[in-house]
Amino acid sequence: MTFETLGLSPALLRALNETGYTSPTPIQAQSIPGALEGRDILGAAQTGTGKTAAFGLPLLQRLAKETPPKGPRKPRALVLVPTRELAVQVADSIKAYGRHMRLNVTMIFGGVGMQPQIDNLRRGVDVLVACPGRLLDHLDSGHAKLDAVEMLVLDEADRMLDMGFLPSIKRVLSRVPKQRQTMLFSATFEPRIRALAMDLLDRPVEVQVAAQNTIADTIVHRVHPVDSASKRDLLIDILAKRHTDRVLVFGRTKHGCNRLAEQLAQAGLPSVAIHGNKSQAQRQKALDAFKAGRARILVATDVAARGLDIPELPLVINHDLPMVAEDYVHRIGRTGRNGAQGEALSLVAPEEGGLLRDIQRLLKTEIAMETVPGFEPSQPLRMDAKPAQGRGGRGGGQRPEGQRQPRKPGSRGHGKPQQRGAAPHAGPKQHRGGGRSRRTA
Ligand code: AMP
Repeated sequence: MTFETLGLSPALLRALNETGYTSPTPIQAQSIPGALEGRDILGAAQTGTGKTAAFGLPLLQRLAKETPPKGPRKPRALVLVPTRELAVQVADSIKAYGRHMRLNVTMIFGGVGMQPQIDNLRRGVDVLVACPGRLLDHLDSGHAKLDAVEMLVLDEADRMLDMGFLPSIKRVLSRVPKQRQTMLFSATFEPRIRALAMDLLDRPVEVQVAAQNTIADTIVHRVHPVDSASKRDLLIDILAKRHTDRVLVFGRTKHGCNRLAEQLAQAGLPSVAIHGNKSQAQRQKALDAFKAGRARILVATDVAARGLDIPELPLVINHDLPMVAEDYVHRIGRTGRNGAQGEALSLVAPEEGGLLRDIQRLLKTEIAMETVPGFEPSQPLRMDAKPAQGRGGRGGGQRPEGQRQPRKPGSRGHGKPQQRGAAPHAGPKQHRGGGRSRRTA
């Protein structure tokens, strides 16, 4: 399955290639064809599954196809989201996918001044990404107009309901034309979501992807505590002693993955690296070499590995733990499929203890620890410590791939999340890409 076969336009394909996506994730493969036909979509998918592109790509394609009405452009697509953090992430993603299209993407959320948002609305908007409460304020004051909306998305609908947004959503929707395409995404299809979907959607295509936070119980997990400086040698030691056919090794940064693949190759372990800085052709070549067995080891970042068609693997090694616990689940999902035995090894430095703690909490289990003789760490794992979030401003090579540039202070609102209703999930915990909370199944 490729993005081409899903029927996406050249402008989008180019942007996806530049973003480093090689193939669609399951939710994208299931949603995009129907959405491109103009069907309503009811999607059960959590954050991390690629749902933003699942609705964002068809939305952009449709906007680009139809000529905008004359005069100041009123939003033709409206994406409702529960929190400011999600608004920023969704808008950033839509801008990235639509970078070869001339479309204005604007955000509306509470906790910051009204005027800059009013100015943006005046300038003309194609895609409006908004939290319901603040959007209502702009509707009431006459600054936002929704009568040109052709496409409506409700993202993380379950969370919007948790936050008490249902009345606001209903009021917003009363201003949106009935004749439109609607896509609703939620982590689950619980009864209240079904009820909302019945109300809003017309014979929707239902798409669902398996919960992300389940791991096959045929996988053996193990943590090897080791100092950062000795990780490479330990990895070489492990790889040299084992005769596993194919091993997927995860690193955190593009630069780190490149260097690691080179060092492994120098140590006589044929390796290739795959990450978002490589062209589509380079990535394909690396993947082919791995699949054909010419390279025994594939070193990858989380972003590059997502959506990759990698065959069943007996062993996955985390050279670095992921910054976001859910990514551990994505990584490990490459092994132990269909009842096969799998093994997941993690090399964990003392300063990564906090990441391990997050993973154990998510999995609701402790992972066995095993110190390898000769590689004992200089201090125990510090379960309250996490490594710094990369070193931004150096061309991106040192930042965990997929993580955005740290925002300049004041460049966007730093107020509280949307104020209406309680905000149980909108805590200050910072995750990849600016703090979207991720939830467990
Ligand atoms: P989402 O569930 O939309 O928040 O996406 C989760 C992460 O997956 C984001 O970092 C996206 O950039 C990334 N992503 C989305 N689609 C793909 C894809 N087809 N290939 C690789 N990464 C993807």
